[in-house]
Amino acid sequence: MNRHMVPEGAYPAIIGGERIFTQQNIDVIDPATGKVFATVARCGQAEVDQAVAAARAAFKKSWRLSTAAERARLLGSFAQAITDNSDQLAALESRDTGKPLRQARVDVQFAARYFEYYSNMVEAVFGSVIPAGTDRLTFTLREAYGVTGHIIPWNYPLGIACRTLAPALAAGNCCVLKPAEQAPLSSVRIAELALEAGFPAGVLNVVPGYGAEAGAALSGHPGIDHISFTGSVPIGRKIAEAAAGNLIPAALELGGKSPNIVLADADLDLATPVVAQAILQNAGQTCSAGARLLVHRDVHDELVARLKAIFARTTIGAGSADPDLGPVISAVQHQRIGELIDIGRGEAELVHGGNRPAGAQYEAGYFFEPTLFDQVAPEATIAQREIFGPVLTVTPFGDLDEAVEIANGTDYGLVAGVWTRNIGRANWLLRELHCGQVMINTFSNGVELPFGGRKKSGYGVEKGFDALLAFTHVKGAVVMMGKD
Ligand code: NAP
Ligand code: MG
Repeated sequence: MNRHMVPEGAYPAIIGGERIFTQQNIDVIDPATGKVFATVARCGQAEVDQAVAAARAAFKKSWRLSTAAERARLLGSFAQAITDNSDQLAALESRDTGKPLRQARVDVQFAARYFEYYSNMVEAVFGSVIPAGTDRLTFTLREAYGVTGHIIPWNYPLGIACRTLAPALAAGNCCVLKPAEQAPLSSVRIAELALEAGFPAGVLNVVPGYGAEAGAALSGHPGIDHISFTGSVPIGRKIAEAAAGNLIPAALELGGKSPNIVLADADLDLATPVVAQAILQNAGQTCSAGARLLVHRDVHDELVARLKAIFARTTIGAGSADPDLGPVISAVQHQRIGELIDIGRGEAELVHGGNRPAGAQYEAGYFFEPTLFDQVAPEATIAQREIFGPVLTVTPFGDLDEAVEIANGTDYGLVAGVWTRNIGRANWLLRELHCGQVMINTFSNGVELPFGGRKKSGYGVEKGFDALLAFTHVKGAVVMMGKD
């Protein structure tokens, strides 16, 4: 199968190595124009049943019996296939999500890197021998769960799909992936590439569809052994309930309201562009966005002035034109962001933005100006709710205790950034922050660093070696042995 076999505009499900077209389809919209540019299969219970059965068959027949070395080689070939198709994948992802082309290219690199990383690592997964007596051999095995379900959102479809699939496949599971209805195309395309790279049929299945149909069918399916979900808190709760019904483990990544904490001694030249990028990247539609700036009063005015200047020169346009800021994903999200900004106008000082940008080219698509609110009280709605748009709130603080109280004072706990030249303060903050990842004098986190929230940001771990282990369970074994 090659790129020319992708029918113009109509994308199938991938089940058991076959491209499956459904009677009904879902329109796929270009967020820069609001126009339909493709359709995708609308899977329901029947297709999910088929996909879970195909995954189970592949697990029994081939994947369960494969060696780590065999899987490592296939994962490596798949990483290469993603890289070889990076132009096409980036263009597709940019069109589907509205994200600037250069962001889509970074996402493709990450996608390939997940497979490369777990390809390198999978042969280092093994059990241990336990010294429980000389007359026996007591040991553990690390085994795959079997069939794993994966439900992902629309903000980084390719990156998040590969973040969750790569460790699951490396560990020896067979996967069923349900992409978001708003941005499903790269998921279909990578499943085709996986087949081209030599993955056996049924090892990776993709069932595009609506959350209430394909998503609910997958998360509640009695044939899955593990479910991974990235998305919103309300749906995360439903996934956890469905998993509880089947008594299977769930990993939930539910976003956040993550702070960047800038101390008085911070290097502002280093911090400023990163603090801006932490909210403008992907139009703020990032689970780990740096959505709240907590800044020491002594450097507050200086930093806000610098950020305002960056926001003012941010270019806005369709993803394909590669601006700094693309549109948000949908009319629904656009309206939601607008409503939260309107609440913000009554709670804080609007320093920049707040509207759809002026100009005919912005009228049909879902564009928003980069928006900066200052003097935001910690308990304000815009400081508490995940806006998922290019909206930064600024809250000044006086001392470190206050900074920690504000930083920890939301329902979420995903990541935090800390900006200081003082290693003691950095270390103290690192210990006090209730979140899954702390980044000091940076806001970037590669595939190697474990990632996973606390509180309403969810539970479970992604990335790093821990994610690979999380897709296995431990089997204990003992063999009694005499002398002969
Ligand atoms: P969402 O509804 O939680 O969607 C995430 C995924 O879950 C999608 O694939 C969705 O499918 C699926 N889904 C929806 N209902 C389901 C159900 N009953 N059973 C199983 N799966 C279901 O998120 P959203 O509506 O796209 O975004 C809403 C808000 O969530 C955002 O504004 C943001 O605050 C947050 N969010 C967080 C992240 C993150 O990375 N943590 C990502 C995206 C959004 P459909 O899309 O087809 O409905
Ligand atoms: Mg939804």
